[in-house]
Amino acid sequence: MTFSKALADKDYETLRTMPKSDLHNHATRGGNIRDFFDDVDLPKRDFTNLDEMQQWYDANIKYKFSGQEGFIARVESAFKQAQHDGIRRLALSFGIGDSIHFASLEAYFMAIRQLHQTIAPEIDFIPELCLGRTSNIEPVQDMFDEVIEYDFFKSIDLVGDDRDSVANYKSIYRKAKSKGIILKAHLGEFGDAESVRKGVDVLELDEVQHGIAAATSIEVKNWLRTNDVQLNICPSSNVMLNRVPSYEIHPIKELFHHGIKVTINSDDMLIFDQSVTQDYINLFESGCMSANDLNTVRETGLLLR
Ligand SMILES: [Zn+2]
Repeated sequence: MTFSKALADKDYETLRTMPKSDLHNHATRGGNIRDFFDDVDLPKRDFTNLDEMQQWYDANIKYKFSGQEGFIARVESAFKQAQHDGIRRLALSFGIGDSIHFASLEAYFMAIRQLHQTIAPEIDFIPELCLGRTSNIEPVQDMFDEVIEYDFFKSIDLVGDDRDSVANYKSIYRKAKSKGIILKAHLGEFGDAESVRKGVDVLELDEVQHGIAAATSIEVKNWLRTNDVQLNICPSSNVMLNRVPSYEIHPIKELFHHGIKVTINSDDMLIFDQSVTQDYINLFESGCMSANDLNTVRETGLLLR
């Protein structure tokens, strides 16, 4: 059975067990709501901005499952969800703020490593450092210099308002690059096409989280293709945050047909409740992409860069 055939047959169980990647996953928001509540009839998840989404997450999940125990429960759920969904390459993004629940940075990294080894050792796990956009860059630089000495993170990401300039992160990204770390940032989710090109150029990114706004500019699309930049796209997140009106007209189709490397990812499974497998189905059943093209996207995510 091939992935394309399983999609055409709507064979969910086969699709679920076939190898996939998830390269855009916010760790503590990457689990399955059913691990936390028997009754998952939670308030409607339809947001107009990231603040509304964060408020929903804080009220329904974060404040109810807090501290070290809550952190571990949420990351455990993320590994279990990935394993259940056939994810073989998994980038989980962690902020340094959650290390507050542990005695030291070393204990924090050890706890994450142990969860991977205990729950899903077969998964190629990419620990990712999540930085938040801020104009007060000095404390971030100091923290980064300390954290990077542990050789724990293999990837780096930047979150927050993606319309803000990223220029003040340049020296951090240069250091990360010298350590062979995969360079990523959230761009082109709320910001425009030009902000995607600028962010990639300034930070010398390998991959962009979202980047869907690039679809509106032929120049930016050409530039991303020429520079071999991969876009880690999250269709359900885009639909539920009203960045895109529907799966049917999601820009992933346009970006893919332009020859840009794209992958399909979950972003915040605990909030959006759509697995990676389900998003392949969502794109196929809406008529957005063909089964063969979706299989090419799946293979892209499994390639080592
Ligand atoms: Zn994200």
